[in-house]
Amino acid sequence: MSSLPIPYGRQSIGVADIQAVVDVLKSDWLTQGPTGERFERTVADYCGAAHAVAVNSATSALHIACLAAGLGPGDILWTSPNTFVASANCGLYCGASVDFVDIDPRTYNMSVERLEEKLACASRQGLLPKVVIPVHFAGQSCDMKAIARLAERYGFTVIEDASHAIGGRYKNEPVGNCRHSAMTVFSFHPVKIITTGEGGMVLTNSSELHENLVRLRSHGITRDPALMTGESHGPWYYEQIELGFNYRMTDIQAALGVSQMARLSEFVERRDHLAKRYDAALIDLPLTCPWQHPDTYSAFHLYVIRLDLGRIGKSHREVFEGLRSQGILVNLHYIPVHIQPYYRALGFTGGDFPEAERYYRDAITLPLYAGLSEADQTRVIETLRSVVGK
Ligand SMILES: *Cc1c(COP(=O)(O)O)cnc(C)c1O
Repeated sequence: MSSLPIPYGRQSIGVADIQAVVDVLKSDWLTQGPTGERFERTVADYCGAAHAVAVNSATSALHIACLAAGLGPGDILWTSPNTFVASANCGLYCGASVDFVDIDPRTYNMSVERLEEKLACASRQGLLPKVVIPVHFAGQSCDMKAIARLAERYGFTVIEDASHAIGGRYKNEPVGNCRHSAMTVFSFHPVKIITTGEGGMVLTNSSELHENLVRLRSHGITRDPALMTGESHGPWYYEQIELGFNYRMTDIQAALGVSQMARLSEFVERRDHLAKRYDAALIDLPLTCPWQHPDTYSAFHLYVIRLDLGRIGKSHREVFEGLRSQGILVNLHYIPVHIQPYYRALGFTGGDFPEAERYYRDAITLPLYAGLSEADQTRVIETLRSVVGK
């Protein structure tokens, strides 16, 4: 057994991945080009969605997805408090206001019951959200069918933040097929399931949203005469018809993405195998392993345990530091977004979303990634066993 520190997550880069990037470096195209299109087609086909738009991060993907959904000043976006800040910040980028829906105590995803209650209340007050972003926490899909039913009833747009969930399934269909949403967003940050270094993607079945996303990715510029308001000045002519950005993904990144896609199933199967191995090894410890809804097959971006601190007789922090001091680089996903100073300044406060806050008081993310060896995982298990006192 090695005694090197074990991170909570890391990329898996093989020889073929490296060769794919080198090939693009020797080609004519470095920025967005034919390999980007291939990456988009590969992911769209894998997921069973009509369109995909590759961008430079999931944060950018969430931003243009919100804009394409028409989110703007005076509008409201709801998401889960148990997520990375980007799922909420995208609403603020658009000038909308942001609110949260508390989490389900078993899946740690946005609670459909809380969502339904909050919608009924918001409807009476005339404060319904325009966009709701369910986050497939740790790789496990939210109850999308139920959320889509509510979207229909209350008229909001659903954008799935599936940053953790590429390769996961919901009701035996791939996450990302957008069957129950307008758009789905993936992240290709190195700790996620597959990586492009930095990168993200928006998937959709709507050709209208697709065109809009493509334009927003690149400065709001079009070369489609049908969309132009002025007379063409010549073959060089293009028009900027809205305010867009430079959110393009390079072909260097896309080459890595195409190559990683070939290993996606292998990655997710490995994560699933390691997760089951944790489940079996931790069963007698004073903690709760991740609960899986029978409708879902998780991509297992994260393996989160909840500590029974009363039985352990140590604080959350003591367990966390005990593991870290022995080279088990555990993490905590997530600090509830609404208690971040920036969000407190917007009026949120401790106690607003009690389930997410309860979760934050005893959750720990254990190391889990495709390249984690069983020997290293055993070291995590044995160290955890000694720290929680069994
Ligand atoms: C990682 C992550 C993001 C942001 O992804 P980037 O590609 O780093 O911008 C957004 N939402 C969630 C839930 C994430 O985990």
